[in-house]
Amino acid sequence: MLIDSHCHLDAEAFDHDREEVVNRARQAGVGAMLLPAYSCEHFVRLESVCQRYSMVDLTLWPAWGIHPCYVKQHNEDDLQRLEAWVSRSDCVAVGEIGLDRFLPESREPEVWRKQQHFFRYQLDLANRVGKPVVIHARHSYAELMSALRHCQVSAGGIIHAYNGPVNVAYTLVDAGFLLGLGGVLTQDSASRLAALVTRLPLSAMVLETDAPDMLPQALWRQGLRRHEPAWIVEVQARVAALRGISRGDVATATSANVQRCLGKLWLD
Ligand SMILES: [Zn+2]
Repeated sequence: MLIDSHCHLDAEAFDHDREEVVNRARQAGVGAMLLPAYSCEHFVRLESVCQRYSMVDLTLWPAWGIHPCYVKQHNEDDLQRLEAWVSRSDCVAVGEIGLDRFLPESREPEVWRKQQHFFRYQLDLANRVGKPVVIHARHSYAELMSALRHCQVSAGGIIHAYNGPVNVAYTLVDAGFLLGLGGVLTQDSASRLAALVTRLPLSAMVLETDAPDMLPQALWRQGLRRHEPAWIVEVQARVAALRGISRGDVATATSANVQRCLGKLWLD
């Protein structure tokens, strides 16, 4: 069984064919997906997608949080309200939270200060409710490490779409984090990440799509533009090839890693 540890199945991009997308994922062997939130205005929609599409052979786990690229439209009251959502028993993690210095707008001093405040607040919140975190870090690994030194997350979590330096990867793994591998790993240009995947212990890796974004290179070249959970097999195949192991071994190990992190263990 495969687990997509990061996808946005609730996104509008799936409104017209979500049922078919879910069925293709099941046929590809995806047995569970983690759906991190990004904006308070979509919390209810995320909740209803998780309830509507969880079935016998597919589990959808919601995580609630405020994404760094969306902090601008949120306020202190939203952070207060978040506590009720992440305290619920169906919430498996606090996310998607983090720091983003990629977009020019996100580097504006006021927005950047607010990002750091929201991130640290949500790290503390995760510790208060005893849940792991799902972290987005783009062009901000140094700042991420300093925030995590300031506020250590007791339940660990997943660093989504990891593409940072090798030494940072090892520090994060030592601190109890898993590294999310997705579409970037399938790109010819991702040689540093590919080298990291051959060296890191398999126990540190999870697979993800970030659908509808981060389409694998081969699918992009076919003219496709929307990613979906079924295509997690592209990343699974890449990890298997890089490590010289079977796709089944990649699925078994990475799914066990997600379940261990979220405290959701199945008997199988
Ligand atoms: Zn995401």
